[in-house]
Amino acid sequence: MKEIIRTLQPYVPEEPAQAVKSRLGVDRLVRLSANENPYGTSPEVREAILSYVTHNDANYYPDGNATPLRTKLAEYWQVKPEQLVIGVGLDEVIAMVNKTLINAGDSVVVSTPAFSEYALNGLVEGAEIREVPADFETGHYDFSSLVKAVDHTTRLVWICNPNNPTGTYEAVEDIRRFVENIPTDTLVIIDEAYIDFVTSVAVPTARALLDEFPNVAIMRTFSKAYGLANYRVGYMMAPVELANYIQTIRLPYNLNTLSQVAAEAALADQEFLARTVSQNAAERDIWESLFDELRIHYYKSEANFIFFTVPDADGLADVWLSAGYQVRRGQRPNWLRLTIPAAQDGDRMRAILREYVA
Ligand SMILES: *Cc1c(COP(=O)(O)O)cnc(C)c1O
Repeated sequence: MKEIIRTLQPYVPEEPAQAVKSRLGVDRLVRLSANENPYGTSPEVREAILSYVTHNDANYYPDGNATPLRTKLAEYWQVKPEQLVIGVGLDEVIAMVNKTLINAGDSVVVSTPAFSEYALNGLVEGAEIREVPADFETGHYDFSSLVKAVDHTTRLVWICNPNNPTGTYEAVEDIRRFVENIPTDTLVIIDEAYIDFVTSVAVPTARALLDEFPNVAIMRTFSKAYGLANYRVGYMMAPVELANYIQTIRLPYNLNTLSQVAAEAALADQEFLARTVSQNAAERDIWESLFDELRIHYYKSEANFIFFTVPDADGLADVWLSAGYQVRRGQRPNWLRLTIPAAQDGDRMRAILREYVA
């Protein structure tokens, strides 16, 4: 066995809702710990799936290249179809990138706190993980320290934008200046899992950088704003040469047809996406106003979650949980990450919070 495997902690997945409900004795559990979409999924997805299953082709392998989905994504993004690596969630793409790029002894640079899959997959391939703390007051990336952390051993730098768990958004211009200072044999991956939720700028995506630099790749997922977490579809847009190398190690039939059909339907319903984004932004404003009023330290969020600190975070998480609201703990002592719930649940949770801090 690889020595490193003995030292790793597995990703702790969300406990199934039914198990939490019976443990707590609550009828309704609202999971606000995994940044899932509280507004559900486009109804078009259901229609597409129902119509697909009548084909009765379960005995045949799926389209290994996800051709219709690939074609639509390439059109949507104005990239070549060969630039796309589509995976069983972004989680799989993150694993494939590390498998492709990392030799034992290479380094990977991340801003912390970060999405845990970056470090985990790097470690599995024998990388040294270099962690650069984000600014404590604001949660923003420290780009100049990130540049300093990169040297000739660095194969990969992760920019998660907006960042999970801080929720903070970095301007494309700042990312561009950062990439200009990174050697071209170091890949900068911009994980835009939450970019659809950004409402403060007209064009939040760093898509343009893909054409400007040979060492930039951009990641997207259907799990969050499109509300498709269960179907597991994520993808990376990369330079063709890199995408081709990754394709060689991709499992031949990674995406089943249900996932492909669901993602196509989700992509087609941009109205559902727009509604999710505007409802999330409205609720995000209400939460941030309350945090301001209660003098709770939080990071200004451009995502569908907010990271904040209260003196007894576990106590608050327990009180919310006993009312059926599960939030994410354990990412930093006394900080919680709250997936922004729909309005009615938000009202109840805010009332509980007011009482708790009174
Ligand atoms: C949720 C998430 C992903 C992974 O999403 P998948 O469901 O695997 O597509 C990737 N990056 C970040 C930052 C995330 O929060």
